[in-house]
Amino acid sequence: MCGIVGISSETDVAGEIYDSLLMLQHRGQDAAGMVVCDSNGKLNSRKSMGYVRDVFQQSHMNKLVGSYGIGHVRYPTAGGAGKEFAQPMYVNSPYGISLAHNGNLTNHKALANELFHAEMRHINTDSDSEVLLNIFAHELAKQREIYPTAQHIFKAVSKTHRRCEGAYAVIALITGHGILGFRDNNAIRPLSIGIREGKTRNEYIIASEDALFTSQGYTKLRDVEPGEAVFIDQKGELFSQQCSDNPLKRPCIFEFVYFSRPDSKIDEISVYKSRMRMGSKLADSIKAQIPNHDIDVVIPIPDSSTTAALQLAVDLDVPYREGFVKNRYIGRTFIMPNQEERKKSVRRKLNILDLEFYGKNVLLVDDSIVRGTTSRKIIEMAKEAGANKVYFASAAPAIKYQNLYGIDMPATDELVASNKTTEEVALEIGADWLIYQTLEDLIDTVSVGNTSIEEFETSIFTGKYITPVSPSYLEQLQSSRRNETKIVSNKA
Ligand code: AMP
Repeated sequence: MCGIVGISSETDVAGEIYDSLLMLQHRGQDAAGMVVCDSNGKLNSRKSMGYVRDVFQQSHMNKLVGSYGIGHVRYPTAGGAGKEFAQPMYVNSPYGISLAHNGNLTNHKALANELFHAEMRHINTDSDSEVLLNIFAHELAKQREIYPTAQHIFKAVSKTHRRCEGAYAVIALITGHGILGFRDNNAIRPLSIGIREGKTRNEYIIASEDALFTSQGYTKLRDVEPGEAVFIDQKGELFSQQCSDNPLKRPCIFEFVYFSRPDSKIDEISVYKSRMRMGSKLADSIKAQIPNHDIDVVIPIPDSSTTAALQLAVDLDVPYREGFVKNRYIGRTFIMPNQEERKKSVRRKLNILDLEFYGKNVLLVDDSIVRGTTSRKIIEMAKEAGANKVYFASAAPAIKYQNLYGIDMPATDELVASNKTTEEVALEIGADWLIYQTLEDLIDTVSVGNTSIEEFETSIFTGKYITPVSPSYLEQLQSSRRNETKIVSNKA
């Protein structure tokens, strides 16, 4: 998963892009980068591996002069990890285009081939974002316009939509011209636009999440629509156009479960309210399935499950307690070579408050179970702390299939629920019982926030991918994900 931002202002934007990237840090901690364009049409940039606060020092910030620019935080999904994958990525022709991408293209290998053989473009990494950048650059170059208008740019986006498959929310900087944002036909990954009144013109922000707008004085204008492109030229004029032949809004439901900040609204749906409703629905399921439950206390696994857990406790009329304290300053867990290491690291990130567990029947609540490593370890810790019984509730349904749209998930066969029943997963993680949210309930909790959305991207629960996917791509992704050494959980 990644976070992207673009700002067009009357004055230098680097400070605001930095602040925005800090607020998007949860979407990626592997690398960060920024490109700004100054009044002479010169690009100033900085990108590197690591947290935002480590990548940008004062000396870098001083050089990042320019009144429009884009930024990116990266969590590796496709291609791999390393400096060469840090974004924004750049091609010098036409005009000089920098691009920041959130999502994953599912046909990037075929496109890379086409780019090389038909269009004589060299792709230097395995990154689908590099392919996307070159496709867009090629389509824009084909317009053969030395001074492109918004219409030329939108035409290139239309052509890009026709060629690219998968998920892509994109913000690009076209040197000397402005910033561009667009979302794939299904609007799988989020993208919003905000506005602020300047002294002589309007200023704009485009970003993965709108939570960062208000703190910087922007008001949300709207979400970018599926297939739509928005362009803010150098003078601060905003243009927008639908560039897809077949737009259909089907946003990723996992943004609401885990990824996005609770203070964000995606496609007009409050993430916070969705999570509260997830808690209520879980409480309803517990009441229906286990009417005589003996839960003494509800304990969230911080942070992403706290909103759902609190509402669940209220609806069950059971006390809500903090049983784990997160060590916030532990920072990144460096490359961990094997599963054993991953297991140990849960204890480094979460400290247990024994007194909330001793002699009690506890219901632990998490947003989701992926490999099962975190839940197994946490249940072990709860039992060591003297819990009598440990029950477990997941605000998301069982995750059974790998993700193709930009979420960092292990291969299908590494997902604990891929070939197990709920009872078998409970046994595997050591829970006395386990309850998952049903998919129907999850969809209800989110869709009630915007009833005009008829469908969500839910493939990690169903295995039904909403874009064309070749069996060979699935197999290739499966094997590249298997045995990878990267971290899955930010708790693990
Ligand atoms: P696991 O130990 O693999 O079952 O991880 C489950 C935990 O990972 C849950 O607590 C989630 O909050 C968190 N999680 C879910 N999806 C992701 C993801 N794509 N990247 C990092 N953490 C995740």
